[in-house]
Amino acid sequence: MWIRGKAWVNNNIEEVCIQIDRFIKNIKKECKPDIQFESHQIIFPASIDMHVHVRGAQLSYKETVATATSEAVYGGVGLIVDMPNTVPPVNTYQRVIERIREFENYSRSDFGIYSGVSKEIEKVDSLPIAGYKIYPEDLEKEETKEVLMKSKKLKVLHPEIPLALRVPRKLRELWMEVASLYLVYGNVHITHITNYETLKLAKELGFTTDITPHHLLVNGERDCLSKVNPPIREYIIRLQLLRALYEADTIVSDHAPHTREEKNLEYELCPPGIAAVSFTTPFIYSLAFKDLISLERAVNLLSKNPAKILNIPYGEIKIGNVANFTVISKKQWKYKTKFSKVTETPLDYYPLEVKVDFTIIQGKPAFDGENVLPIRGVNPFDKTGKY
Ligand SMILES: [Zn+2]
Repeated sequence: MWIRGKAWVNNNIEEVCIQIDRFIKNIKKECKPDIQFESHQIIFPASIDMHVHVRGAQLSYKETVATATSEAVYGGVGLIVDMPNTVPPVNTYQRVIERIREFENYSRSDFGIYSGVSKEIEKVDSLPIAGYKIYPEDLEKEETKEVLMKSKKLKVLHPEIPLALRVPRKLRELWMEVASLYLVYGNVHITHITNYETLKLAKELGFTTDITPHHLLVNGERDCLSKVNPPIREYIIRLQLLRALYEADTIVSDHAPHTREEKNLEYELCPPGIAAVSFTTPFIYSLAFKDLISLERAVNLLSKNPAKILNIPYGEIKIGNVANFTVISKKQWKYKTKFSKVTETPLDYYPLEVKVDFTIIQGKPAFDGENVLPIRGVNPFDKTGKY
């Protein structure tokens, strides 16, 4: 099949023909296209979100694999990587396999999964996972040392020391975030960095980094809706974090759904988390269309860099890569979730300049501007097709 339109190829927007099946087969100037995109639309490599809490399993009342990944493709995200703090937690050989099966059956986007730190490190490490998630409480566990020592796979660190979990929220300070970086080594990615000092140190230590939109945009932690871990920092810290738009490797949603009832609990009791997986891509391309960041920087943040960090053939429109695309156009609208079970986020009604028109996954339309189409997502970390 041939698609034709304006596309981000060779760090530029060019009118091209792209031949696809599940992969990108050919790119050339002329063809008889099966699909012709309109002149106001631009084809980008599909976005990748390295930090999503899909929930599912016994937490399906909050969100299911189908609803979270539907929300992702509505937001132009072609591949998400799922966090293991589920019920039951994904941290054994058996549970990793069950989790992969759950995604194979229900995922509307391509996917990877992280295992939690595991007592069965040798067995878990043989499975097709994207890597491991290390939570603050894990930093005191023996199995975390094992994972750091024995696995070459990616480790994603939630950067806070365990003490941060034992003090009142207002005392979860920046130094606790900075200090946690000294407790890990190797192939480590530091996620949801909230302040510029952590970003600088992470780079010095050779780690890759990400930020979230909410740590930039949400106006302080004011209620349960804006309650999130690590906390939203004060205004000046958020202003300084804007530099990370130019320096961080990638941007993630940390999509973390809870029910309306849970978020309506008293402030001390309500669970932390913001669920806006569909916000990141139109937000970053809106910044590019306003000339606040370059288009190249936008693509690097959303797709090229996360593909490199995860070491998968995604993130660039080039021959041999997986045929995942996000097609966008300029349009003013106000953000809302559409397919998630979560209908309220602190980013609601944020004015955006870009709308996702299509998300194409494995060469098939997964979102057509209105509806999510039930494609089967693929786990690119499984190179054998055994699981
Ligand atoms: Zn998270």
